[in-house]
Amino acid sequence: MAKQKFKTEVTELLHLITHSLYSQREIFLRELVSNASDALDKLKYLTLTEDDYKGFPFVPRIDIEFDAGERSTLSVSDSGIGMDAEELQENLGTIARSGTRRFLHDAKGDAAAQTNLIGQFGVGFYASFMVADRVEVVSRRAGHDQAHRWVSDGRGRFEVESAERAQPGTTVTLHLNDDGKEFASRYRIEGIVKRYSNHIPHPIHLHYAEPASADQAAAGAGEDAGDKAEDKVEQINAASALWKRPKSELSDDDYREFYKTLTVDTEDPLHWVHTHAEGTLEYTTLFYLPAKAPPDIYYADYRPGMKLYVRRVFITDDDRDLLPVYLRFIRGVIDSEDLPLNVSREILQQNRTMSAIRQASVKKILSELGSLAKNNPTAYDRFFTELGRVLKEGLYQDPGNREQLLELVRYRSSSEEGLVSLARYQERISSDQKAIYYITGDRSADLKRSPLLEAYREKGFEVLIMEDEIDELVVPAIGTYGDLELKSVNRSDTADDLQDERDRESEKKIEPLLARMKKVLSDQVKDVRPSLRLSDSPSCVVADGSDPTLAFQNVLKQLGQRDLPDSKPILEVNPGHPIIVGLAERGDDALLDDASRLLLEQALLIEGVRPEDPIAFAKRLNRVMERALI
Ligand code: ADP
Repeated sequence: MAKQKFKTEVTELLHLITHSLYSQREIFLRELVSNASDALDKLKYLTLTEDDYKGFPFVPRIDIEFDAGERSTLSVSDSGIGMDAEELQENLGTIARSGTRRFLHDAKGDAAAQTNLIGQFGVGFYASFMVADRVEVVSRRAGHDQAHRWVSDGRGRFEVESAERAQPGTTVTLHLNDDGKEFASRYRIEGIVKRYSNHIPHPIHLHYAEPASADQAAAGAGEDAGDKAEDKVEQINAASALWKRPKSELSDDDYREFYKTLTVDTEDPLHWVHTHAEGTLEYTTLFYLPAKAPPDIYYADYRPGMKLYVRRVFITDDDRDLLPVYLRFIRGVIDSEDLPLNVSREILQQNRTMSAIRQASVKKILSELGSLAKNNPTAYDRFFTELGRVLKEGLYQDPGNREQLLELVRYRSSSEEGLVSLARYQERISSDQKAIYYITGDRSADLKRSPLLEAYREKGFEVLIMEDEIDELVVPAIGTYGDLELKSVNRSDTADDLQDERDRESEKKIEPLLARMKKVLSDQVKDVRPSLRLSDSPSCVVADGSDPTLAFQNVLKQLGQRDLPDSKPILEVNPGHPIIVGLAERGDDALLDDASRLLLEQALLIEGVRPEDPIAFAKRLNRVMERALI
């Protein structure tokens, strides 16, 4: 048969592939193995569905051979459906997929757009020309006697001629170019296959030569002893995609074992959920909940835990967008039947199939967490203690799932040990409590003992302890839960709820004192007010109205925000406390100055704020102690 020209579009594609396309040349092997696997699937299907093919002798397998010698070659053979002359010409001489054609048309001339877009459409077989300067395909269609050879150097022309092949199937042989020579290596091939094609359902055999051992060479004792090599064949893929198997066939141990192959975690996973979705989109997901937070979970450059497969072909394990950031602790697999093999990162982000899978996955994970919380609260609380901080990020990252997330968050509480949900809190509060109260601050600040809680505790109001930095950012945005408003006890206005506690008379008595204290502290506080929330402690600080709380300002500082708006706290003092009563009765200015500052400084210390001038603070404290000793 005479030389034939590629369709123009193939020439263009080949030009792109060899000139600008992938930096990741190793993917050519993934493409060839995937084609071989498809060919096996197609023949298998025929033997199951077509009378002509029933009983067709068929052992599905893929074989990879290489020669690292002078003529460096690599070949991939399969016992699949094969191609006749016409199919060789059609399939390997044109671009069948309209997507790729359209892409070439759209991106014409624009190199950046080309490299950016190419990932969306497969380059498939043509990727061979990244590593080979000549490609030979010998193929025999199943059911036909005649085989054919397709040959091309990838520069515009190809040739198809008659050839010999003992069995049906296809062998693609690459004559490796300088860039491709590195792939004629046992370890290189094995590595690439394990990485991309480990879960292809058919066995992949690698042929290699092992130099004979000294013993064997001696035993051979022939004239060519010493350079004899032994031919070996080894299956190099697992050939099973556990996630593709029906759940009913899998034991808990199977799932646990697979988790270990997937992660570096030595502990068993806490929980998992395995789903096969069918319908408009077909995909399989297997999600694991680790028992411990992965060590890099709070680093910006954390390693994502999800692997993406397309029809069992590995695509990536380095995409942080497969799941939302707040679910970055999930480990597992997504395997889609519908995505193209060559999905680049940019394309994944915009791909509608992917975003539908992602959305459904989030729902699945959240509802699974919900069931775990219901059916095994102890396990759920263990999970939440480890990873709740990460999950809470969802409250601002994912407003669409806010309702579900609100059911999943847990907090410590001022009145009981352990963790409590918002639902449970709502259930157990008394009917005269009209809000959900919470206190924010640092974990180290021991919020459960904060003076801010005193009056709430006396009234029997439960207060949620929000001691994660993330709470500061998230909770104010929640607003309400059911018909209850969430109110921060760190704010001045919340104390209005404690109005009936008001003791007007003692408040009146300390008015002049408050005015004097305000003068002393004028550059540090916004106001000095009588407090309704204190019983045992003399003072506390709160944030005014919508001002950021001190804890929030701390978070911002840690996040590197430097020019924070200057928002001073309000100092509240306890009108019934002996220190305040005593100060109000005495007109001693020297003491008043020290005492006012100490009352503020101790309140700030409780909030985790160090005195601005520790030396001055110590001096004040000592002066006051000295007076006590007189
Ligand atoms: P894709 O596999 O994405 O369709 P390719 O360019 O890789 O695109 O292959 C083009 C076509 O050539 C395939 O769709 C298939 O019909 C045929 N083909 C490629 N490799 C083989 C093979 N090993 N056995 C049978 N057919 C093959």
